[in-house]
Amino acid sequence: MRAVFIETFGGREVLEFGEVRTPEPDPGQVRVAVKAAALNHLDIWVRKGRPGLELKEPHVLGSDAAGVVDALGEGVTGVAVGDEVVVNPGVSCMTCEYCRRGDHSECPGFRLTGFQNQGTFAEKVVVPACNVEPKPEHLEWHEAAALPLAHLTAWHMLFARARYKPGETVLIHGIGGGVALAALQLVHGTGGRAIVTSSSDFKLEKARELGAAHGINYRTTEDVGAAARELTGGGGVDLCVDSVGAPTLPVSVKAMRRGGRMVTCGVTGGPTATVNLQMLYWNHQTLMGSTMGSQEDFRNLLRAAANAHLKPVLDRVFALNQYPDAAARMEQGEQFGKIVLAVA
Ligand SMILES: [Zn+2]
Repeated sequence: MRAVFIETFGGREVLEFGEVRTPEPDPGQVRVAVKAAALNHLDIWVRKGRPGLELKEPHVLGSDAAGVVDALGEGVTGVAVGDEVVVNPGVSCMTCEYCRRGDHSECPGFRLTGFQNQGTFAEKVVVPACNVEPKPEHLEWHEAAALPLAHLTAWHMLFARARYKPGETVLIHGIGGGVALAALQLVHGTGGRAIVTSSSDFKLEKARELGAAHGINYRTTEDVGAAARELTGGGGVDLCVDSVGAPTLPVSVKAMRRGGRMVTCGVTGGPTATVNLQMLYWNHQTLMGSTMGSQEDFRNLLRAAANAHLKPVLDRVFALNQYPDAAARMEQGEQFGKIVLAVA
C-alpha cells in the first residue's frame, strides 16, 4: 500500500512517500481502508523523534482517519466489513485499573496511532475494533477525519477534566490550532463565552465569525492576562484552555478568577513554564493536565456532533503525496483549522 512514512527522525527531508507492507489485523483488530486523514502537531513531534521512540520498520505517520472497514481480525464482533467509521487514535490495554474504570487515556500502556503504533497517512490502518465508531452521517470523509484527535482532546479537557459548565467564560489560547478551535466550537455551542488569543488579526476575525465573544492579539497587547480580566469586568475568566504551553501558562494564571481552572494538553510554544504559585494558592486556582479522552468521551463527542450537526473547521485538503507541503503549512503556523489529506 502507499503511505507517508519515515525511516529516520529529522526535518521534513526525512519524509518518504511510497510502498510499505499492508497491515493485517490481529485478533480483536480491524483494518480500515482510509478515505481521509488529518494532520496534528503530534505528527511533527514524532517525525523529529521522541524519547523512547524507536523505529524498527518504516513508520507511518498520522493519527486521525475516517474510512471503511475492509478486514476483521479473529473474534471481532459488532463491526462489519463495509462499515463507514471514524478512528479513535488512542489505544489502551482495556484491562488495567484505569481502563476498567473508563479512564482509557490514563492507561499506563496508552499508545497513539501514528506515534507508538503505525499511523493513518496510508491506504490502510489497523486499530483495535473498539477504536472505530460509526461515521456521523452529516460529515463528508474529509470532515470526519478532522474530528477525532482535536475534538476528543478538547471534549475531555472541558467536560471531563475541567468540569466546564455552560455559561462559563473560557479563555482559549492560540486560536487557529485544532484543539483551540474545537474548544471554541464546544464552548460556543453550549452557551459559553469564549475569549480567544492569536498573533493574527485575521485568525481573530475568523474566530469571531465562529462565535468567539472577544479576540486578543498577543503581539499587540502588552498584558494579555489583564486584558482578559478586563473583558470579564475585572473578575477573571472561569476556565483557560491551553495547548500552547510555556508562554501562555503565566497568562492563564493572571487571567483566571478566584477558583478558576486551567487545563493544558499541549506545548507547541515550549514545555517549561514559570508560574507564580502565590497567585495560584491565594486565588484557589487549579492547574490540570489532560491527554486525549476515554472511549465514552469519543462516543459522546460523535453523538453530540451528529445531534448538533457540528463540523470541524477545515483549513485545506491536500493529496496524500503532498504531505510535505501540508506539514510545512502546519509548521509555519499558517493554518486556521484542520489540514486534511485525501487518501482515497
Ligand atoms: Zn489500561
